[in-house]
Amino acid sequence: MIETNYDIIILGSGPAGLQASIHAARRQVRVLVMGRIHKSSAFQAHIENYCCISGDTGAELLEQAQFRAREFGVTFLNEDATNVVRNNSIFTIESEGDQKLTCSALVLAMGISRNKLGVKGESEFVGHGISYCVDCDAGFYKNASVAMIGGESAAVTGALTLLFLQKMSTLFTKAWKWRTIWLKK
Ligand SMILES: Cc1cc2nc3c(=O)[nH]c(=O)nc-3n(C[C@H](O)[C@H](O)[C@H](O)COP(=O)(O)OP(=O)(O)OC[C@H]3O[C@@H](n4cnc5c(N)ncnc54)[C@H](O)[C@@H]3O)c2cc1C
Repeated sequence: MIETNYDIIILGSGPAGLQASIHAARRQVRVLVMGRIHKSSAFQAHIENYCCISGDTGAELLEQAQFRAREFGVTFLNEDATNVVRNNSIFTIESEGDQKLTCSALVLAMGISRNKLGVKGESEFVGHGISYCVDCDAGFYKNASVAMIGGESAAVTGALTLLFLQKMSTLFTKAWKWRTIWLKK
């Protein structure tokens, strides 16, 4: 059984939650992190663009961060929060395993989910040809034929970034209505 009362509880054990826990614990407060590192979207990633590391997997990066957080006294509970209730200045969090935990500050670091296109094969090929982040993954598609799908400035700047690595990229955009634009160097 773990302690049930904390100064700070952080929901999420991805890079954001782990970094927040290290900062918080260094202030000598009692910190609990909830969630599972293998559910972080960084867990499967091959990290190319972080300062001071080269070619580590996301899993190694998260395990190192968790190790460091433990050294600063952070407690981990490998369960999701299923309910949060606020009563005046106290938060009560219920966990999957029916534990009731309280804290006076709650940090939400549960990640984001991407908008999906809903096309056939999309979920099977994430990380194997389908990406949702140009800055993270463009390097994997050097000289490949790549289509960028999206709207507004993120899609346009993404397609232009791809041009550094390919002779041509194709942008499917719905800025006004769906249409195709071919960009060449
Ligand atoms: C294939 C792939 C490759 C990537 N490559 C790179 C890269 O090279 N460089 C880069 O900078 N970024 C990369 N990214 C993006 C990077 O993984 C994310 O930006 C990063 O993980 C976001 O961190 P986060 O902590 O905000 O969220 P996440 O890492 O998504 O973590 C969210 C955490 O919240 C937890 N959680 C969710 N609900 C609950 C709940 N109810 N209670 C408790 N916990 C909960 C989850 O279990 C998880 O631990 C990549 C992503 C993918 C999918």
